[in-house]
Amino acid sequence: VSVAWRRLDLGLSYPIEVATVRGDADGPRLAVLAGVHGDEPEGVLAARRLLARLETLHVAGSVNVVPVACPGAFAAGTRVSAVDGLNLARTFPGDAAGSDTERVAHALTHEVIAPADLLIDLHSAGKDYEMPLFAGAYRGGGTGRRSAEAAAAFGAPIVWLHDELNSGRTISAAAEFGVPSLYVESGGGGKVSLADVDAYVDGTLRVMLLLGMLSGAPASAVPALRQPDWLLDEGNGDLDRALVAMFDGLLVPHASVGDPIEEGASLAELVSCDGSRAAAVIADRDGTVLLIRRTARIDAGDLVALVGPRLRRFEKSRL
Ligand SMILES: [Zn+2]
Repeated sequence: VSVAWRRLDLGLSYPIEVATVRGDADGPRLAVLAGVHGDEPEGVLAARRLLARLETLHVAGSVNVVPVACPGAFAAGTRVSAVDGLNLARTFPGDAAGSDTERVAHALTHEVIAPADLLIDLHSAGKDYEMPLFAGAYRGGGTGRRSAEAAAAFGAPIVWLHDELNSGRTISAAAEFGVPSLYVESGGGGKVSLADVDAYVDGTLRVMLLLGMLSGAPASAVPALRQPDWLLDEGNGDLDRALVAMFDGLLVPHASVGDPIEEGASLAELVSCDGSRAAAVIADRDGTVLLIRRTARIDAGDLVALVGPRLRRFEKSRL
C-alpha cells in the first residue's frame, strides 16, 4: 500500500490533514474520521496507529483517514471549536461560505464522506465524562442495514442501533449521501486507555474484513472476528435523556458506566461548594448507565449522566 497526505485548503488559519491509503487492488473506499470533538484523544491516536498498521497489510481499495477533523477544537482541547464556538458534530453537512467549523464540515462532507462506501467516526466520552466502549449506527433509511452490520462487525462489547437520527452529525451527512456509517464511543475522563485505542484499530480492521478489503492479508495479521455481547436498540444515541446538575457544586458519582440501574436509584450526589446543599441525581428510568460525569466541579445545567435502554443479549437476527 501507499500512504499520501494532503491538506484540504479551506483558507483557514489551520489545514485539515487527510491521509489516503491506496491499496494494491481495487476495492471499496472507507472513510475514517477522528477528532470531530477536540477533547477526545482516543480516536486521534487510533487513526494514526491504524495508518501504521495498514502500511504492513495487503489492502484492496482505499482508506481516507482524518486524524484531527476539527483542528480548531483539538488545538484548544475542547469539545467545540475555540475559533467560532461551534460543535462540529452538529454542523454537518456544513456551508462552504460559513464560519470556520461550517467550512470544515462542508469540506469533510464532500471530500471524505460523500465519496466513501462506508464511514467510521471515532469519538469518545471527552475529558469530563466516561462512556462504555460501544459502536452505534442509524438503522433506518436505505443504508441502515449495512450500517448495523458494520457496527456489529466492529466487535465492540455493545452495539447501539438507533431508529432516529439527529441532523448535523457525520452519520446524518453520510445517510444523506447514501453512505452507510457507524460511530464509536469509549473511555474518556481525561485519560486514555490503551485497550480502547487498540479496540478502535482492531474494530476498524474488522469492518474492513467485512467489506472484503483485507482478504489478501494472512489471518495472523488481522484481528479475530468478535461478536458483540450486548445490543441496545432504542433511542437516538443523543443526549436526549440527559440528567443535569440542579445547582453548582461538587459531584460524587455513585454508578459506573455499563451498570444496570433502576428508576429512582441514585446516580450521583451533588454537594454545593459551601456544603450547605446536597441532593441526589436520580435515575429517571430503568436502564443502563451509558455516560457519567467524572470531573467533580460542576455548574448548574451541566450534564451528570445518561441512562440508556436496558442491555439485551446480542443476536444477529435483531440487527
Ligand atoms: Zn465526540
